[in-house]
Amino acid sequence: LGAFASLRRIPWVKIHILMNNYLSDANWLEFEKNHVWHPYAPLEGALPPYPVKSAQGVYLTLEDGRKLIDGMSSWWSAIHGYNHPVLNQAARAQLDSMSHVMFGGLTHRPAAELAARLVSLTPEPLEKVFLCDSGSVSVEVAIKLAIQYWAAVGQPGKQRMLTVRRGYHGDTAGAMAVCDPETGMHHLFTQILTQQFFAEAPSVVRDEDWQDSDIASFRSLIETHHDEIAAVILEPIVQGAGGMRFYAPEYLRQVRALCDKFKVLLIADEIATGFGRTGKMFSCEHAGISPDIICLGKAITGGYLSLAAVLTTAEISRTISANPPGAFMHGPTFMANPLACAIANASIDLLLDSPWQQRISAMTETFANHLQPCLAWDGVADVRWIGGIGVLELEQPVNLASITRRFVDKGIWIRPFGRLVYVMPPYVIDDKQLETLLSALTQTVSEEFMGR
Ligand SMILES: *Cc1c(COP(=O)(O)O)cnc(C)c1O
Repeated sequence: LGAFASLRRIPWVKIHILMNNYLSDANWLEFEKNHVWHPYAPLEGALPPYPVKSAQGVYLTLEDGRKLIDGMSSWWSAIHGYNHPVLNQAARAQLDSMSHVMFGGLTHRPAAELAARLVSLTPEPLEKVFLCDSGSVSVEVAIKLAIQYWAAVGQPGKQRMLTVRRGYHGDTAGAMAVCDPETGMHHLFTQILTQQFFAEAPSVVRDEDWQDSDIASFRSLIETHHDEIAAVILEPIVQGAGGMRFYAPEYLRQVRALCDKFKVLLIADEIATGFGRTGKMFSCEHAGISPDIICLGKAITGGYLSLAAVLTTAEISRTISANPPGAFMHGPTFMANPLACAIANASIDLLLDSPWQQRISAMTETFANHLQPCLAWDGVADVRWIGGIGVLELEQPVNLASITRRFVDKGIWIRPFGRLVYVMPPYVIDDKQLETLLSALTQTVSEEFMGR
């Protein structure tokens, strides 16, 4: 009876799991639906996610056996495709020696090797490396580095950030505070979000059409508030999750010049754009500028594990180290995880050994061929592409359930948001697969949107 009484306090769902030896083939998906959150979705009443059984090359295989060409690279990360033998081998080799050890007081070769690769790849003055777990955390680290730097040089009043609207920098509190205030729902979190400075979003134009008035709002904020501003943070050239907007390199050059003039650090968030996606190894290279701090993530492990890196100049790290409290105040449990570092090293080597520039420019050309004609369609607001990113912007938001069903029925995986249908396929996608992906994309949009 006593046992029964205590059992009765256990919710039914827990008993059910225990009695059934966890989940059966028949019910795991139902259980998942009722208990597991997905990104930016309700837990109850969400669209059912498609269960993936395995992934290989550019294909995702669903539980029901259907194969989809992946247009998303699992959110910018799987640049070499899935289940890559070289990355698998790097993971296995590292597993057999150690998956993880703490980084406090200890170190290991994979971290040093990764730092060496990042220092050699990134723009000139960046040479000191902080390895952390995710993109959002790297943004927190970058912001704290900037604030500690100014405190160290005797300007503790410089604690705020200046950014541009329509940006996206992650989901933790410090990162959220520099995301677009509207799409980031700042009004929901006013008590925990620092009020930062927001300039108007840069216009979606090329250098030829760029006008000086575009930077006016940014210039006036930095002129007025530079005594309070530790750093500017933005996504160079391509604003990702905040709207897939591509802006003029000239804007970025002006930002760099204004940061220098008003003694404000520049943080480049290249978490999405880094490792070749925009056609340059890093997006800053489009403008020929170097940031003081760079954040890298997403593609860094080729989509295998969560890992991010922050690089700074020697001047910043020296200043922080030589002044009270005499340390940089951050240190996550899984800092520099050896397994992730080993895969990142293999992924970077794989990238550098591949003809990635050719692959990306071939992709750009195919985007142009397929997307340009859609501009004439009713309901299409804009089409644009840069490097390995193709965007179709509609006048109305998509019906996610029905457009996703059509994509899946045609054998492709694309995840639109709002009015944006966009692709950033794995770099290894071949011409035929890319043709299939883009034909199915444009066909679906025409059926779904224009009722053709
Ligand atoms: C994805 C992303 C982040 C956040 O990275 P997570 O790994 O999801 O925390 C930050 N900035 C940009 C530009 C991103 O695209």
